[in-house]
Amino acid sequence: MDILKNRLLLLFIFILMQFPLHTEDLISLIEKEKAELLWDSLTGTGIIMKADSEIVFKLGVPWILCDYSIKYNIDNIKRDRGKIIVPDNMSRIIHEHFLKKEKEKETPRIAVILIDPGHGGKDPGAYYVHKSKDQKIILYEKDLTLKVSRILYELLKETCKDKDIILTRSTDEYLKLEERVEIANSIKTGSHEAIVYISIHFNASFNKKAKGFEVWYLPQNYRRTLIDDNEVPEDEKDIIPILNTLLEEEYTLESITLARAISQGLLAQVGELTEERGLKEESWFVVRNTRMPSVLLELGFISNKDEALLLSNDSYLKKLAKGVYNGICTFINQFESTKGFTK
Ligand SMILES: [Zn+2]
Repeated sequence: MDILKNRLLLLFIFILMQFPLHTEDLISLIEKEKAELLWDSLTGTGIIMKADSEIVFKLGVPWILCDYSIKYNIDNIKRDRGKIIVPDNMSRIIHEHFLKKEKEKETPRIAVILIDPGHGGKDPGAYYVHKSKDQKIILYEKDLTLKVSRILYELLKETCKDKDIILTRSTDEYLKLEERVEIANSIKTGSHEAIVYISIHFNASFNKKAKGFEVWYLPQNYRRTLIDDNEVPEDEKDIIPILNTLLEEEYTLESITLARAISQGLLAQVGELTEERGLKEESWFVVRNTRMPSVLLELGFISNKDEALLLSNDSYLKKLAKGVYNGICTFINQFESTKGFTK
């Protein structure tokens, strides 16, 4: 019985040797994928290009490089009677890579997360000194917003590698509100890509007992000019108001969903230490002028002594950043898995 098994195995190996894994020549692969080829016969190096994707390969080298970032191991590429024969696993990887790229293009996704630390430079924001017998706590809102924003930036940068994470300021510098809005509105994205804007602040009140975090978004009935007149052809200008309303409703839904997710993220992180003051509506300058889903966070009252004590501790600021981060991640998952809330 064993002899029979061995013979069958040998027969199988023999058949495999007759039909090697190299089955397709490069030109048919290029035609099949509707791609283009840049070939340097001197070095035996080629680039297969399709849309904005590029795959580099080299004769005799057992790997290919997709978009200059992802390396895939393959069997060797060989030359046979003037033809370049690509191994099966290379054809498959290329096909799947192009397919994935195409899909990415069509599926709505969050491409950019813009974090805007409030105040800075000559504008300290809220400022408070708490004195007790044995200690003195001095807090500037501009420092807290920057600290939390930087931690949030690092967290997002670490895990959202397919997205651009941008800080409007990364040092103690003064930025006008108009400049912050300008940074946000000048970001260019593809038609299926969205940006979210997160403005970070801390609160102060004459009521020293007030404490907790709040998440603000633009009032639901607020209407802005979101579509630029100049970008719409002359004969389609009459539909601008309709497009504008649709886009406003989309941004409102996204902003509220984002606000809710961040509030829940914060509640999970710091709910036992401070209060959740809920979601609120207000037409803050940065929120009403950025043409994208946006929220403004008030992460605690520096005028409240207990909260000031928490805020003077970096580990608490990390908790706040983690809460915001978890909320943003929840929102991204919801947005991308429902194809921009259309599913
Ligand atoms: Zn502020």
